[in-house]
Amino acid sequence: MAAHPSLVKLSEEFRKDVIELAPNHYIAVGYAASNVHMIVGDDGVIIIDTTETTKAASNVFAEFRKITDKPVKTIILTHSHRDHISGASIFAEGGSPDIYASHHFKSDLVVVGEKRPTPTEIMIERTKRQFGMGLSWPEERVNLGVGPGDRPLEGMGQGFLPPTKLMPEGRHKILSCGVEIELMLAQGETPDHMIVWSPAHKVLFCGDNFYHSFPNLYAIRGTAYRDFNSWADTMDILSSFNAEILSPGHSRPIYGAQNIRSVLEDYRDAIRHVVSETAKGMNEGKTPDEIAQEIQLPTALADKPYLQEFYGKVSYAARAYFAGTVGWFDGNPTNLNRMAPATEAEKIITLAGGADRVLETAQKAHKKSDNQWALALCDRLIAVDHHREEATQIKISALRQMADKEINAPARNYYLVCAKDLAK
Ligand SMILES: [Zn+2]
Repeated sequence: MAAHPSLVKLSEEFRKDVIELAPNHYIAVGYAASNVHMIVGDDGVIIIDTTETTKAASNVFAEFRKITDKPVKTIILTHSHRDHISGASIFAEGGSPDIYASHHFKSDLVVVGEKRPTPTEIMIERTKRQFGMGLSWPEERVNLGVGPGDRPLEGMGQGFLPPTKLMPEGRHKILSCGVEIELMLAQGETPDHMIVWSPAHKVLFCGDNFYHSFPNLYAIRGTAYRDFNSWADTMDILSSFNAEILSPGHSRPIYGAQNIRSVLEDYRDAIRHVVSETAKGMNEGKTPDEIAQEIQLPTALADKPYLQEFYGKVSYAARAYFAGTVGWFDGNPTNLNRMAPATEAEKIITLAGGADRVLETAQKAHKKSDNQWALALCDRLIAVDHHREEATQIKISALRQMADKEINAPARNYYLVCAKDLAK
C-alpha cells in the first residue's frame, strides 16, 4: 500500500492539539472526526460541538479541564451531523446546560428506528465504507479527509442530548456565563447549519461550512441534494463578519481578516464554478458522465491548499448538481428503459467472443492499470456468474490500485472497504 502522498501529508492537519485562539477561546483539533471549541466565561463555559463518541468527548474534556474547572453552562450544536452531536452528555456532566441548535435541526440526520421503509441500512453501510471502518490505520485508512484516521470509536453516537433552545432564522445575541455571542442560521453543508460569532475577539465558528478541503457538496455515503447556491451565498455571510479568526468544524483554524476573506471567497467561487460549468454542460445536452469527465476548477482555485479534493470532489459535485436539479434521467432516451445489468452483460460478453475473452481483456487492462475498464469487464462477468472467482480477484486488485492513486479520502476508504469485503 502506498497512499497518495498529499493525503498522507494531510494527516498533519489533524495532529492532536488544543489551541488558544484568543483569550478564553479554545479549539481541540485531532481528537475526533470533528473539532470541539470552548469559550471560558465568568462562571462557566460554552462548548461548541461535541464529537461523535463519548470517548473522544471525554478525551477533549480532560484537556479542557487543564485550562478551567468551570461548569459547562451552554452547549451549541452547529448542525445535526452525528460527528458533532454525540458527546454532549460528557460535557453536561449530569447537569442541564442550555443546548442551542437551529430550528431546522435534524434535517440532515440519518434517522434510526424510523417505522416507514427507509434505506437506512445501506446508508449506514456506505457510511462505514466512506470513513474506512474496519481498515487498518495508518496503512489503509490514512485519514478521513476532514479528520484523523485514528480517532476513538467507543461510545459512538451515545452521548446525544436533544437541543433545549431551537433558534429561528436570523441573527441572535445571547449572553452566557457573562460572554456575549451571536448565533446565526446559515445554510451550507446542511440546511440546519448555525454559526457562532464572538464579537469581543472577532472569532467566527463556522461549523462545516468551511474546512480544509474542496467542500463535500455530495457525500458518497449517500446524501440528498445539498443546496449549492445557498452554500455559496453563506460564504459571503461568513466574509461579512470580518473575522480575525475562523474556527471550523474540521481542520485547523485560519487567522487574519484579509486571509480569511480571500479563503472564503475562493471557497464561494469554487462552488459557483461547479454550478455554472455543470449548468452550462447540461444546457449543451451533456450527460452527467460527460460533465464529470470534463469539469475542473480553474487553475487559480485548483492550486489552493484548502481546495484540494481531500473530502469533497469536483466530479462528484457536478453529478450531484445534475441529479439535484433534474433528477436521475441523463436526457438520453436510450436510458429511459435500460436493460437489467445481467441481460446487458450476457449480450456484451457474447458480442466480445465469450467469457474467456472478456476475462483475458480484463487481466490485460488491469496489468496496464486501465482499472476502470478492468472493473467494467469484471462486473459483467460477475453479473452473469462466469469466471466469478478470477473476475473478483482482478476487481479487488484494481480497487486497491485505484485507492492508492486517490487524493480523496472517502473514495480511497470506499475502494478499500469494498475490496476487503470482496476478499472475504
Ligand atoms: Zn462534520
